[in-house]
Amino acid sequence: MAEGGSRRICIMTTGGTISSVYDSEIGAYRPGMSIEGLLSGLPKDMGEIEVVTRDLFQLDSANAQPHHWIEIADAIKTITKEDSDIHGFVVLHGTDTMVYSAAAVSFMAQGLGRPVAFTGSQIPASVPWSDGPRNLRDAIRVAAWADLGETCIVFNGEIHRATRARKLRERAHDAFDSVDPTPLGLLGRDIVLYENRMRRTSPKPKFKMHLDEEVFLLKVFPGMKPSVITKIVDLGYHGIVIEGFGSGNIPTRENALGGVIKEALERGCTVLMSTQCPFGQADLSLYEVGKAALKVGALSAYDMTSEAAFVKLMWSLGQTDDLSEIAEIIHTNIVGEITMSPGAGMRGT
Ligand code: ASP
Repeated sequence: MAEGGSRRICIMTTGGTISSVYDSEIGAYRPGMSIEGLLSGLPKDMGEIEVVTRDLFQLDSANAQPHHWIEIADAIKTITKEDSDIHGFVVLHGTDTMVYSAAAVSFMAQGLGRPVAFTGSQIPASVPWSDGPRNLRDAIRVAAWADLGETCIVFNGEIHRATRARKLRERAHDAFDSVDPTPLGLLGRDIVLYENRMRRTSPKPKFKMHLDEEVFLLKVFPGMKPSVITKIVDLGYHGIVIEGFGSGNIPTRENALGGVIKEALERGCTVLMSTQCPFGQADLSLYEVGKAALKVGALSAYDMTSEAAFVKLMWSLGQTDDLSEIAEIIHTNIVGEITMSPGAGMRGT
């Protein structure tokens, strides 16, 4: 893909390792470097790119809350309205919870027709061997020139759809992978983009920012007491994503969960079953122990990642509390996050 012509992009910072500096008082790294500081470490001549900057906040992403996702989407909304010439966005963010924030922005800010490229690094940009400058450079290339019209994560030379990415490595430079289907593209000498991506289009922005934050994410484990689910509903949660075993399976003998899932649904709490496997999908019709959840009315996340399913449930509950409407939203492919076909999930098998 040709990279040339003048471009105007917006870079936002939210913190994370990429912008961290060593604080000798606490004896650890903490976010704090400005966008200007980060840009000063990049090659001077990167083509005719004009950069507009927005310092949103400086947080380790472990401290990012759903209202911070809204803040990012809201900044995109404001800039989109004020400055229609922006070709793309870069969002600097910590890697720990980047997939949650990026997935949330995908759902909240649709139809932008241009890239929103989240990036960060495993080593602070203030350290000489950091992966930060390369990731920032790549994200700038994507925002400025890539024929991409969706929210993505640009990291270690790969472009991942936000709702399909997972942080799979805590330390290595290739922190993220795409979980079914394959990445959207690669960055080398050129930007190589695959057919599965959404292309740039003329913008038809649709902002739906409302979230219901009362959603719980639960991983089933052998020996888990069913009363855990009852307690979650008692605490006032309106939705639970349950990561079942394998294809979304739950215990049906000792510590059986079917009964408490049924009760949760009767009390108005939506239950969405996903898989705790990093690759693959929830297929509740495969085994008796999967049907147990389906039979009492739980929804299947199919091949959505648990992170995307969790954010999507918050976003769906933010729009309606009618269970059939929630089911319809959950099972509609909105930004490329779900494929409800039996072949989905094959990449990791
Ligand atoms: N704890 C950091 C964060 O998520 C890790 C990173 O950015 O890589 O903000």
